[in-house]
Amino acid sequence: MDGLSIRDLRVVFDGFVAVGGVDLDVSPGDVRFLIGPNGAGKTTLVDAVTGLVKASGSVRFGERELLGTEVHRIARLGVGRTFQTAAVFENLTVLQNLDIAAGTGRGAWTMIRRRRGIPENVQEALETIGLTGQLDQAAGTLAHGQKQWLEIGMLLVQDAKLLLLDEPVAGMSHDERDATGELIGKVSRDRTVVVIEHDMDFLRRFAQTVTVLHAGRVLSEGTVAQVQADPKVQEVYMGT
Ligand code: ADP
Repeated sequence: MDGLSIRDLRVVFDGFVAVGGVDLDVSPGDVRFLIGPNGAGKTTLVDAVTGLVKASGSVRFGERELLGTEVHRIARLGVGRTFQTAAVFENLTVLQNLDIAAGTGRGAWTMIRRRRGIPENVQEALETIGLTGQLDQAAGTLAHGQKQWLEIGMLLVQDAKLLLLDEPVAGMSHDERDATGELIGKVSRDRTVVVIEHDMDFLRRFAQTVTVLHAGRVLSEGTVAQVQADPKVQEVYMGT
């Protein structure tokens, strides 16, 4: 398992400093929650790790430097990311979505399934995300939470070893949040995970370590209780 090590990360948009020198270490197998007010730089940080925006500094995943690496290569190195709106193929079934993500190919699927059954990694992902009963259901008809889990499943079959999840419980029911908290715990057994999340109830229940970003910098870091008690954090949140 590999960890994430970010040093002096900077992202500047037309002179505006969105991320202004962030250091962040996530040990292999840890889950790190990123919080901070709107505009703090959380999404931009994740964009920089996944190669979507130009950045300076260093982002190491294990031994590999990700900065300067092309987006598709970063994905191939095992870095997977979800977005606030689940990016699933709505007209295809759960299984077809996983099949495409796994690279088995849509056309080949029927034949492969007939001959060999469901590939082991797809079956494992289905069980992990709790959608074994929805195999043949069109992704567009899934509940909101299930779509988010499917998107995570698509990263699992791609063999992602660093998962970056952008507000995975936004809009979810209470039960869906709990299931997502458990899912994150499960996937982190052999993966490193970074989660952008605002939901304080969720953080109190499921977060071990939290990093607070503000104005493109790390404002505070620690347990949920520690960062909540930090006067700097209180000031920022009271001011918003
Ligand atoms: P967060 O995810 O913490 O809400 P973002 O990373 O989305 O914050 O944004 C950080 C800051 O960078 C914001 O002020 C935002 O307006 C700015 N920003 C983000 N993307 C761009 C862009 N492509 N061009 C210019 N400014 C941007």
